[in-house]
Amino acid sequence: MMDIRGRSRDELADWLASLGEPPYRARQLMRWIYRLGVVDPSAMTDLPRELRARLTGLVQRPDAVLQRLAAADGSVKLLLAYGDGVAVECVLLRHGYGYTACVSSQAGCAMGCAFCQSGQAGLIRDLTAAEMVGQVLALRQQAGGRPVNRIVVMGGGEPLANLDHSLRFLRLSTGSGGFGLSPRRVTLSTCGLVPGILALASQGPPVTLSVSLHAPTDPLRDQLVPINRRYPLAQLLAACRHYAQATGRRVTAEYVLAQGVNDRPEDARRLSSLTRGAIGHINLIPLNPIPGADFKRPRDEAVAAFARQLLDRGTAVTIRRPLGRDIGGACGQLRAAAGAVAEGTGRPAAEPGGKARKSPPGDG
Ligand code: SF4
Repeated sequence: MMDIRGRSRDELADWLASLGEPPYRARQLMRWIYRLGVVDPSAMTDLPRELRARLTGLVQRPDAVLQRLAAADGSVKLLLAYGDGVAVECVLLRHGYGYTACVSSQAGCAMGCAFCQSGQAGLIRDLTAAEMVGQVLALRQQAGGRPVNRIVVMGGGEPLANLDHSLRFLRLSTGSGGFGLSPRRVTLSTCGLVPGILALASQGPPVTLSVSLHAPTDPLRDQLVPINRRYPLAQLLAACRHYAQATGRRVTAEYVLAQGVNDRPEDARRLSSLTRGAIGHINLIPLNPIPGADFKRPRDEAVAAFARQLLDRGTAVTIRRPLGRDIGGACGQLRAAAGAVAEGTGRPAAEPGGKARKSPPGDG
């Protein structure tokens, strides 16, 4: 079976040529998939009836929705199941201006960040670009077929540890033959894989890069985000400066606030100094506790005080507004609750789409 998602126009043209079809059929397929959200050939009404019937027997079916949770604010979390038994979470966030799709890049994760539920299961496997496209298509259906306005690769997994498929997905998200979003409307979040950041700067579309900082010093970050032991803060922030220079895009940071861990006044002072000139904006995410972890969410007043200290030092900061809080707390919890083999959107702190480590802009 052929998975027509995640393919470039040229790849589809080659495949269709092998079936004796002209190259322009690839453009038609791309339009159905990315503009209209249709992957079932039988519904592609501008294809000849014979070709529709033929493709229907050749094309892989959409991924199954194992579970769906809808929040009062219109956000929806899905657990998608793949043929090999792996399951991943993805989240549709509803904003005043439209919809954001938060997608997972891996089933499980090897990075072991302290706040994160997805990381607790370890890495199950990388997701393909087709599977990432499939998450956007499944979420789009939840939006009544309306296109999503933003895509954030902030779900389960570390996208830069799955570089080839993540790059392919980013190109399909931003290219005119794919979902067609401006790179400004696409965000990739990383826990800090420096070689991946440099590769993204040279090979990827100039999407928004978001780095999960969570700590203003190496000793603390070594504990909270273990990849810091390999790529400490000085290297990470140098890579962020390089990304900003190479792409002309400001880099943002996520900082999950855990009571008594990284929310002290001295943490705010250090964070402000550390990020000056490298990070354009910090999203503060009050921790959303996950089962089995001792971290606590700070009081709202403590979060506001932390933000004020950053602002007073000239650091741009936002406190992330939690969306979809009633559909499952920290990412990865749906998969864990379902006993699924893999996945998820997983970070410590944030609500759906807003993980501690990688959290979608403007969501929770
Ligand atoms: S926060 Fe992200 S990188 Fe860290 S363990 Fe969780 S999914 Fe992996």
